[in-house]
Amino acid sequence: MNFLDLDINLSKEEKMLKQNANEFARKVMRPIAKELDEMTPEQVIARDSPFWTFMKKGYELGYHSVLIPDSYGGMGLTPLQQAIVYEELAWGSVGLTIALGVASFPAYGASMVPEDTMIEEILVPFCENRDASFVGCWGITEPDHGSDTLMPHHPSFSNPEIPSQCTATLDGDSYIINGQKSAWVSCGTIATHCALFCQVDKSMGHAGGGIFAMPLNLPGVKKGAPLNKIGQRDLNQGEIFFDNVRVPAKYLIVGPEGYETLLEIVLSATTALMGVFGTGVARAAFEEALSYAKTRVQGGKALIEYPTVQTKLFHMLRKVETSRAISRAAYIYNQNTTTPAEEYSIMAKIHGTQAAFDVASEAIQIFGGNGLTKEYLVEKLFRDARAMLIEDGSNDTLAIAGGHKIIETYPRKD
Ligand SMILES: Cc1cc2nc3c(=O)[nH]c(=O)nc-3n(C[C@H](O)[C@H](O)[C@H](O)COP(=O)(O)OP(=O)(O)OC[C@H]3O[C@@H](n4cnc5c(N)ncnc54)[C@H](O)[C@@H]3O)c2cc1C
Repeated sequence: MNFLDLDINLSKEEKMLKQNANEFARKVMRPIAKELDEMTPEQVIARDSPFWTFMKKGYELGYHSVLIPDSYGGMGLTPLQQAIVYEELAWGSVGLTIALGVASFPAYGASMVPEDTMIEEILVPFCENRDASFVGCWGITEPDHGSDTLMPHHPSFSNPEIPSQCTATLDGDSYIINGQKSAWVSCGTIATHCALFCQVDKSMGHAGGGIFAMPLNLPGVKKGAPLNKIGQRDLNQGEIFFDNVRVPAKYLIVGPEGYETLLEIVLSATTALMGVFGTGVARAAFEEALSYAKTRVQGGKALIEYPTVQTKLFHMLRKVETSRAISRAAYIYNQNTTTPAEEYSIMAKIHGTQAAFDVASEAIQIFGGNGLTKEYLVEKLFRDARAMLIEDGSNDTLAIAGGHKIIETYPRKD
């Protein structure tokens, strides 16, 4: 569907990026995501699964390196261009988009501290990879600590009484890692590398963390079983266990002294991008509902002719547009500052994912009984959107973190 973009400054190149990403989303992602949605979690990641066909095509086109500068071999996109591409990919499948996104997480982390080891062993090999044999993941949450790990600057974050389940202890020129990450680590059971966020200094609570960009082929690393879940079934998830895993200190991106600050920068990017993904899902649901309302006839008229259906569609599109506006603005702003206004990224995440859920739900209403069946895309979009309200921080706890940030920093001086 040809869709208006309110940004009158989009260049020819940006329009082309959008069109190309949409074509990939429509021709490759949508059909593969539908197949994967009906498979078991084990079938999804089997070597002959269409998941790997998707990953290889994504890597061939460079979509695994959307977030990486071209100086390291990444796509070298501006924040606006990244948001444009990601909205289109999420329109195709948010689960598959997140698979590609987290695949780049160790490289993305490594690009923040361009040390030689990171460049030679992580960044360049990842960007050059074309057969999806280098897959990253982001391990931050733990079985007993989900929201706890994602609330920097909240009083609970620096409470030493709240222990962590994954720790790193310095031993000579290495760290010894013990413990585990939660069953929710996206691409956790298939990843070759991990951006591991774990505790280094217990006296600082979760704030005493460190970030490693590390390979997962080290002795003592084990993976859990792939998780079975309601939505985003095309996205693999599972635990990673660490049993006395010796990691050379050269893989440490940041230690306790800068952990909370860097985490806030990372979260300002990821939460705003969740808003971008939500926009893509909401738009997909809106488009499905609009097409259906034009063809479904009841009471002798197409549904679209009824004013109540028209107003429903209007409000759906309103949510798509406002999501795009806040998500793009928050992402672009926070990518251009070293002191992120995290509360705006949180707004983007909450607004965009709630829009995805609301619009998908309204779309099902317009489809009537048909919308509840697997015959129609809106059923999958609704389940995918439901997961987004919890993914990357539950919307409730993010609102707490956002409120806390506002009280701490307003009126802003910058
Ligand atoms: C699809 C998906 C993908 C994910 N991908 C990853 C990934 O790649 N890597 C990774 O590490 N994790 C990942 N996660 C984990 C995700 O970040 C957590 O699920 C999320 O942060 C919530 O944590 P939890 O599930 O442990 O819930 P909990 O933290 O146990 O929260 C349960 C409920 O309690 C509420 N609550 C919690 N704390 C408070 C509080 N202080 N005050 C008031 N209410 C509170 C929450 O809002 C929620 O409603 C993913 C999750 C999903 C669903």
